[in-house]
Amino acid sequence: MLRLIFPPRCAVCDGLLEPREQRRGAHASCEKRLSFVRGPVCMHCGRPVARGEREYCCDCGRRFLQTKSPYRGRRPFSFIRQGKAVFVYEGDIKQTMYRFKYDNRREYASFLADCAFESLGSWLLGGGFLAAVPVPMYWRKQRSRGYNQAELLAEAVAERAHIPCVPHAVSRIRNTRPQKELNDTERENNLKSAFHAADFVVQYKRILLVDDIYTTGSTAEAVAEELCRAGAQEIFFLAACTGKGFEEEI
Ligand SMILES: [Zn+2]
Ligand SMILES: [Zn+2]
Repeated sequence: MLRLIFPPRCAVCDGLLEPREQRRGAHASCEKRLSFVRGPVCMHCGRPVARGEREYCCDCGRRFLQTKSPYRGRRPFSFIRQGKAVFVYEGDIKQTMYRFKYDNRREYASFLADCAFESLGSWLLGGGFLAAVPVPMYWRKQRSRGYNQAELLAEAVAERAHIPCVPHAVSRIRNTRPQKELNDTERENNLKSAFHAADFVVQYKRILLVDDIYTTGSTAEAVAEELCRAGAQEIFFLAACTGKGFEEEI
């Protein structure tokens, strides 16, 4: 019945889908146009880097240089062990993410999770993750939007990985300004004490943190720090989309 009122549409072009394409959620030809992350990626956050010899993207490089490591030596430090992303945030996927976020296209979570398992399946299944945790949205914002797209994605990923999705593991206790409006220092202050992890997090030693779009990584880093404070030991990160790491590198 619902399908008659809201016939399934392509997650990429928003056109109607033939019955055989409905399970996938997108036209095969549209999916081919998407920029899957390929080639050399940042060892830390998984975003593409320009040259194979470069280990980290510019944001990760900067973070590692600035953050005082609690370890000795020159080992780069982050609360996130490793991050991966499915798509480069360019071209058609931008519209997909916009509708997923603002236009109530909750069903895109399934398409995005399928894509994630096609490109990162062995990492997602073999990583030993004990729970998927979405990057939280401030409760008031979530109430007005009706859902948190990161949570929908985390649920779809968790289901395929046969692990629990634990959206209440960490919550956003302050409404922060959008990170993209701020400089580095403001970003850090903006995120300080913005998140609170529940005590039960301690039972999930190895967590897969999930978000829709990875930009500079400061939000993910702040959430990971709070999860570790609450007793988690290893945080990994999955984003549906990531920026390119080499625009500012030259
Ligand atoms: Zn299409
Ligand atoms: Zn990076």
